[in-house]
Amino acid sequence: MSLSAASGAAVGTLYVVATPIGNLDDISARALRILRDVALIAAEDTRHSVRLLQHFGIATPLAACHEHNEREHGGRFLARLQAGEDVALISDAGTPLISDPGFHLVRQVRAAGISVVPVPGACALIAALSAAGLPSDRFIFEGFLPAKAVGRRARLEALREEPRTVIFYEAPHRILECIEDMRAVLGAERPAVLARELTKTFETLKGLPLGELHDWIAADSNQQRGECVVLVSGWQAPEGEEAVSGEALRVLDLLLAELPLKRAAALAAEITGVRKNLLYQVALERQR
Ligand code: SAM
Repeated sequence: MSLSAASGAAVGTLYVVATPIGNLDDISARALRILRDVALIAAEDTRHSVRLLQHFGIATPLAACHEHNEREHGGRFLARLQAGEDVALISDAGTPLISDPGFHLVRQVRAAGISVVPVPGACALIAALSAAGLPSDRFIFEGFLPAKAVGRRARLEALREEPRTVIFYEAPHRILECIEDMRAVLGAERPAVLARELTKTFETLKGLPLGELHDWIAADSNQQRGECVVLVSGWQAPEGEEAVSGEALRVLDLLLAELPLKRAAALAAEITGVRKNLLYQVALERQR
């Protein structure tokens, strides 16, 4: 409990508590203590979370906080916090707010000047990245791709030249069509990893170029079950292109749209000062 900056009255704390993504041993001692001690637990699905709490012998009352009521009912949780009670926020699995409800509540509580404390733990994207063997120094999380093919392909197009490792969540019944679209847009050779059923009995981490990964999943219906994360290696410029600035590539592309390749490379070299031979090679690559 802390004091409100505005009134000086005692206010509670909102704890954002991560819960396991499969293996129940992955909950921290601190998370269990907080879930026991708070006055109320705001849960995405109370019927789901009651089983988790029962497993650990925790009898703290639960109240629903899901995407449909979060905005209107946030006020109820805020009132409890303002009355000096501590509240914990949990989702069905993993870290709340990560492709899960909680954002509106956290924003509302912070805006009211009440402290929000993270209690870290399992998160599928981080677990997957930590074991995938793809570059992990820089990465982006895209959450779920659009369910319909047109939207999904458009999103993938926008990510085609993203140099960082890209991480997606995907539903099992869409995994094959999703990898198929990735293969079509990002290329069959792009390295990728399917991380499935993490921390559970059938945990699988399979790393293959997208083309082979697609065929491997298609050949085994077991790989189209359970929960999955897809990680795709970032785009790498074809050989030679890294030596050419983005501006020079832009000039080259504009000229390539209007002129024969040799002439475009020569003119682009004159305009940008980049070696003609290098631009010629890059132009060949880009036309391919
Ligand atoms: N908040 C969660 C987290 O911290 O990872 C994510 C919730 S999101 C609604 C559920 C998605 O997370 C699943 O569809 C799947 O893509 C991924 N996921 C959750 N648990 C997983 C697991 N054990 N193995 C692989 N992916 C998992």
